[in-house]
Amino acid sequence: MVSLTQYCPNCWFETGPDDRVCPSCGFLMAAFDSLGYGGKLLLALKHPIPENRILAIQLLGEIKSGSAVPAFATIIEEEEDPYILRAIAYALARIGGDPARALVARLVSHPSVIVRHSAVDALRAIPGGDPEDHEWRAPSER
Ligand SMILES: [Zn+2]
Repeated sequence: MVSLTQYCPNCWFETGPDDRVCPSCGFLMAAFDSLGYGGKLLLALKHPIPENRILAIQLLGEIKSGSAVPAFATIIEEEEDPYILRAIAYALARIGGDPARALVARLVSHPSVIVRHSAVDALRAIPGGDPEDHEWRAPSER
């Protein structure tokens, strides 16, 4: 077996090949193997390289992962990279449903024009998602 640098799938700390538990966060390495594809993609949302996070976001959209929606909600609160947020808007459009639509609606008023435009596009792609509706009225008023 070729010895490769390994990373904790939970916190991306560099680990040794024989580490069963991450020295940084205590993640049980064997637990990673028992995660499904969607679970592994959810962990990849914390990858230190933005391009990899974007890829995970896109793949979660492709598999229409409902459990990605709350994870995206957390990222939207903290993330400032407009390309990450754009990927999330399009992934949410693919996932669909009311929680996804409500999240995209929050991005319609984002300071970044890249994010705003992609959110409007994404809302058009979600059935029943009218961008004008979300731009002017808060969800509680509808
Ligand atoms: Zn870790």
